[in-house]
Amino acid sequence: MLKKIDAAARLIGRHSSLFQCPVCGLAMEMNENRTLLCRNRHGFDTAKPGYISLLTKSVKSDYGKAMFEARNLVCRSGFFHPLIGQIGKLILNGRTEPVTVLDAGCGEGSPLAQLADVWKRGTPAGFLGIGLDLSKEGVAIAAREYAGFLWCVGDLARSPFRDRSFDVILNVLSASNYGEFRRLLRKDGILIKVIPGSGHLRQLRHALYDRSPRQAYSNDKTRALFLRHFDMLDERQIRYDVALQEEQLEPLVRMTPLSWGARDEQIQRVLRLAIREVTADFTVLVGRAKVR
Ligand SMILES: [Zn+2]
Repeated sequence: MLKKIDAAARLIGRHSSLFQCPVCGLAMEMNENRTLLCRNRHGFDTAKPGYISLLTKSVKSDYGKAMFEARNLVCRSGFFHPLIGQIGKLILNGRTEPVTVLDAGCGEGSPLAQLADVWKRGTPAGFLGIGLDLSKEGVAIAAREYAGFLWCVGDLARSPFRDRSFDVILNVLSASNYGEFRRLLRKDGILIKVIPGSGHLRQLRHALYDRSPRQAYSNDKTRALFLRHFDMLDERQIRYDVALQEEQLEPLVRMTPLSWGARDEQIQRVLRLAIREVTADFTVLVGRAKVR
């Protein structure tokens, strides 16, 4: 069997035309030492777990390995399935052509991998999935868990991909760079941005913050920014309750950005509450780049 690093280098090599050098912008090719190289000899090595890092400088990520492992556990339990199912339907939408999807802010990779499954159940047409995240810890888990995708560590602000490379950009609960999204999407390509709805994980928020102002937030600013760059093709609310097994509560609390500001005693208090059901609430914005 092919080693993970070799399989990854081969896959990236086969699709090297998607990449551009993050230093100088030139086209890149995979060489026999599993290094993705531009003509100015800027090189980026494939990493052992089966991903490639295209960072030009080391970047400190806010998220640690433990958070991504927790998130991976929660994702595998099916927490995002109804959301990803809907997104899959949106993308399928009668399509018979192969699709190239970039997950911008892919984290530990589950949403992209699950989306590929939905696609494959819907059509025999090919699905090429590329995951990009600033966090090496997240991407390493993605590479460990999900084969057949191009997993990349890189900076979305200086993304290592050529213009008009993607049919779909997925951006789930993660920061956006609309300038780059516009540049990277093909003509007629779509951006699918998922943001938390006002009821998202409300049980955890109530328990963590009682009645502090952190409880309330609004998506108005995010939505306005989206509309400055993209025309809205579709907007939908996806809300469902998820039953939790006892062992799922802690990873869910640990993966939740809401708990960042929380002190450990607050987290412990939430765990003692033995919450058995949480609400997942998302707003899905689907857009096409405005013509300028
Ligand atoms: Zn270069």
